[in-house]
Amino acid sequence: MPKLERHRILINGIVQGVGFRPFIYNLAHRFELTGTVSNTSQGVIIEAEGRPENILGFQRAVEVEAPPLSQIIEISDEPLNPAGDKDFIIISSDGNKAVGTLISPDIAVCDDCRRELLDPNDRRYRYPFINCTNCGPRYTIIEALPYDRPFTSMRTFQMCQACQAEYDDPANRRFHAQPNACPDCGPHLGLYTIDRQPVSADDRIAEAGKLLKNGKIIAIKGLGGFHLAVDAASPEAVIELRQRKNREEKPLAVMVKNLASARRLCVLTAAEEKLLVSPRAPIVLARKKVSVLAEEVAPGNDRLGIMLPYTPLHHLLLEERFTALVMTSANLSEEPICFTNDEAFERLYGIADFVLLHNRDIYLRGDDSVFIELGGKPQPIRRSRGYAPVPVLIKSEGQPVLAVGGELKNTICLLQNNRAFLSQHIGDLENLEAFKFFKMTIEHLQKVFQINPELVVYDMHPRYLSTQWAREQPLPALAVQHHHAHLAAALAEHNFDGPAIGLIMDGTGYGGDGTIWGGEVLLGDFSEFERFAAFEAMPLPGGDASIKAPWRTAVSYLQQAFEGTLPDLPFLESVDYQPVMEMVEKNINCFATSSCGRLFDAVAAIGGGRTTIRYEGQAAIEMMQAAGTAAAKPYKFAFEQQGDLMLMPVRSIIRSVTQSAITGADLTEIGQRFHRTLVDIFVNMAILAREKSRLTHIVLSGGVFQNQILFETVLSELEQRDFEVLTHQKVPANDGGISLGQALIGREWLRQK
Ligand code: ZN
Ligand code: ZN
Ligand code: FE
Repeated sequence: MPKLERHRILINGIVQGVGFRPFIYNLAHRFELTGTVSNTSQGVIIEAEGRPENILGFQRAVEVEAPPLSQIIEISDEPLNPAGDKDFIIISSDGNKAVGTLISPDIAVCDDCRRELLDPNDRRYRYPFINCTNCGPRYTIIEALPYDRPFTSMRTFQMCQACQAEYDDPANRRFHAQPNACPDCGPHLGLYTIDRQPVSADDRIAEAGKLLKNGKIIAIKGLGGFHLAVDAASPEAVIELRQRKNREEKPLAVMVKNLASARRLCVLTAAEEKLLVSPRAPIVLARKKVSVLAEEVAPGNDRLGIMLPYTPLHHLLLEERFTALVMTSANLSEEPICFTNDEAFERLYGIADFVLLHNRDIYLRGDDSVFIELGGKPQPIRRSRGYAPVPVLIKSEGQPVLAVGGELKNTICLLQNNRAFLSQHIGDLENLEAFKFFKMTIEHLQKVFQINPELVVYDMHPRYLSTQWAREQPLPALAVQHHHAHLAAALAEHNFDGPAIGLIMDGTGYGGDGTIWGGEVLLGDFSEFERFAAFEAMPLPGGDASIKAPWRTAVSYLQQAFEGTLPDLPFLESVDYQPVMEMVEKNINCFATSSCGRLFDAVAAIGGGRTTIRYEGQAAIEMMQAAGTAAAKPYKFAFEQQGDLMLMPVRSIIRSVTQSAITGADLTEIGQRFHRTLVDIFVNMAILAREKSRLTHIVLSGGVFQNQILFETVLSELEQRDFEVLTHQKVPANDGGISLGQALIGREWLRQK
């Protein structure tokens, strides 16, 4: 008899709900091992017994051949005494509540399941809830850990014999697939009018397809909530949806059948195609082709948000021959997405005509994720379905921390050991529904991951709801400056401790000195920062009112640049500028701001672009698209030293832009020269900051860096000058990423205390 060894192997990471135990089971048989594998809330525990060389080979194969959706973070191994097992078996999960397990995100239908879905001989032919160990709902149906059927919303469905046999058979690709179901035992679709009247149809999906072709608006239940769907080729239907949803011009995302149909609508790069077909299936903002879609889908925008079907229901619906379906979050403007059946009927009354729903509950909302490729690399604009709650792995360990993010595009972050769990997109906390969702998400994530934070970190802005909530918690609390958090978020995702130069170009964030910041050059790390440079502070009349009306910002900036006398500009003829002039002159309800976003607004309005906007960033986006490039002659600029702070010019830029506009330059020319000027300002400022600080790492963060021309030109010119440029790839450059930065700053604060 050869000498046998037994090892206890603990595997941590995303190892539940991704076919890990069956994988281990098969591997153990291949290496002739006996023992057990079990899912615990500490991770997957394997006890493996066999020849030493086989155990070694097994361990190597675990790392090399792990299932595609799993992510191993660490493996620990300890020797045990041989127990003489006869076989290798899977034992059922324990309920013990130690920390350490990860939850898989929701995963798009895999190829195997899609084949069965469309195979008339398969028992799940056209069954819209088909799934397997490699695909299907996860995060949004999990109520507690470990990830086992009784802890998911599938617990109300008793598996039939055929499904149970698949579930129990280690050789089956549905072995221990928790949401496993079939037409005999699983969830079912229902089609209703918005008045809750059932629509009788043999095939509800075909019927829904017909209704969509007749221009109807249908609320469709997906993974993390409902979408509102209309036929994207019908201008009337799209216009009707916009009116009812109160969404005037903000681009709507579309879903197309497959990659070939995506290529017909957009010019796609290799990286964009890879994202589209990935199991995470995000929306990709790709370049529009001249298209057969209604212009109203994304009016005045040269990009189109496009995604592929990610649930079986989507696949079946897209079989009904649509060029594309508009699939936009089912909500009223900025409220959170509807996710329960009752909510859909109540909140979508007056918006949707019909509701296509099912009886598998969603426990947690999850909006679609959104990506854009900038400088050859995909960047998240919204990190949500398919990504949350996969942690961002960070280098250091320390105490658990909760960070509550900002106000707009809110996400929260829970830090545990070396994992930063970022929540899905929560939304704009200005509205009550979103605030409820915020509290629910914090509670849920703390519960499932068993995290008891020792510190809560929040934005310095005194009036944010997240700030007020944080201060009410029975925990030590730390306020963090908004742009410091942006800087720290980028450092964290690159596992770089800093210090670094932070080029943070943003809309608005509370400065801590009573002014609103937003065009900042910082020097700092997780523990502290210094404000090296900023744009000249300008008065923002009426705060939010100016954000929605760039002409107001323009009037104020002109008043400052021309010392009280407004020049003769065409846009002034159509606006009531007198009250705004008065506000600025008398300094009534004005906030001083160094915002880069507001500078874009002012320049756009003066340069012949947008004077009012219908969605965030619209004026800047349209000016950027008109410009097309930053290859142009810059405006003259100079820096000014004000105490310890370097000032980047605003007044002189406004005067130059005005001069251009008066002498007949159009938005294209002004946009090009303005982008060029900003690039030169930023590159020059980076060089000054490097000379002073000796730092060579530089972060590009803040929502303004989602501007493709600015981002790509600044990035390449900094790289040419040998900077190490850190850009966002894991979390958004916008406020969706700041909770990560807050969390790391908080942990550092605890460490130093
Ligand atoms: Zn599958
Ligand atoms: Zn069944
Ligand atoms: Fe911000």
